[in-house]
Amino acid sequence: MRIVIKIGTSTLTYSTGRINIRRVEKLCKVISDIKNAGNEVILVSSGAIGMGVGKLALEGKPDDIPTKQAAAAVGQCELMYIYDREFSDYNHTIAQVLITNSDINIPDNHTNFQNTVGKLLDFGAIPIINENDTVSTEEIEIGDNDTLGAIVAVSINADLLIILSDIDGLYTKDPRTNNDAYLLTVVEEINDDIVAMGKGKGSALGTGGMRTKLNAASIAVDEGIDTIIANGKDPDILYDILQGKTVGTKFVGKKVN
Ligand code: GLU
Repeated sequence: MRIVIKIGTSTLTYSTGRINIRRVEKLCKVISDIKNAGNEVILVSSGAIGMGVGKLALEGKPDDIPTKQAAAAVGQCELMYIYDREFSDYNHTIAQVLITNSDINIPDNHTNFQNTVGKLLDFGAIPIINENDTVSTEEIEIGDNDTLGAIVAVSINADLLIILSDIDGLYTKDPRTNNDAYLLTVVEEINDDIVAMGKGKGSALGTGGMRTKLNAASIAVDEGIDTIIANGKDPDILYDILQGKTVGTKFVGKKVN
């Protein structure tokens, strides 16, 4: 299987912006194992701004674009350094791929992107994709990595998109404020009722919340790609997903010819 795994800032870091070492170590171990089993894995990883906040000892996620971009430039290095170190332990090679909206929308750029990722997969490497935050401005930005994950999954014909977050999946209401909220395990169609369930904000250092995850799921399922939103706090959940166990919320890909 060709699997795109989107990892959110809240899965990689503590709220301080400092890396959650135990979790990241385990995540890289499980992903390496999934790859050893014969799957192709592409990571779409957030965390650049979050880790930059930690490394520069900023007080919180910055509001202005230049500071966000500076934090991303610092944090992206740290992020790739950590991935490189961890995946090397399991003999896997990683590759950094930073893109902006124009790399998807301009046909030549898009072809180059697809060719590069295709070649990396042929080489057995793990492409780790993020938005090129240092040059992205509002006009050209994809904006959030949930959407980026879906765009990447479509662009490289993935079989499965997994969005790991700090929430178990899609709840009928915001579970942080409603005791009667329950988790939906399968969504066959993303209709208005489903969209209404996804209102609400994300975590302090991340970007999306459930709204962008639903948007991502809808981009992917429209192209026939099953999408799972699941909690990344225990990376073993990736094994459960691949074994077809009921975890998180599964959005069923539409039948496309
Ligand atoms: N590209 C941003 C980062 O690496 C993340 C965007 C998002 O979390 O959706 O910090």
